[in-house]
Order: sequence, then structure tokens, then C-alpha cells
Amino acid sequence: MPVLDSGLLAVLGCPRCKGCLSVHVERGLETLRCASCRCDWPVEDGVPHLLPELGRRWDSTSE
Ligand SMILES: [Zn+2]
Repeated sequence: MPVLDSGLLAVLGCPRCKGCLSVHVERGLETLRCASCRCDWPVEDGVPHLLPELGRRWDSTSE
């Protein structure tokens, strides 16, 4: 069950490319995923941590 609502996601943007973020759940952990630059940002207790240095690439094949 996503903790983050779509209204919050509409306000937030990718800290790297300003693209749209979507909630991605992997092994029970929520992350905010940017499809544009292919990075995930961590979410802790429903609070997204959108710092550029925290971005984690989920697709390293297209580097
Ligand atoms: Zn991005």
C-alpha cells in the first residue's frame, strides 16, 4: 500500500532531471522512481528523501 499520495507526487519532482516521479515498491520498500533518468530515491516512514546524491540508478545498462 503506497503511503505517498498522488497529490504529493505531483508537487515533487526528480531532483536530478525534474521529471515526474512514481511510487515503486520493491521487496516491501517504497522508493520514488524517475523514469526519465532511471533513478530511485529512498522513502523512509513515508518521507521522501530527494537529494541528488541519494539517487540510485535502477538501470545501469543504458549508461
Ligand atoms: Zn529524473
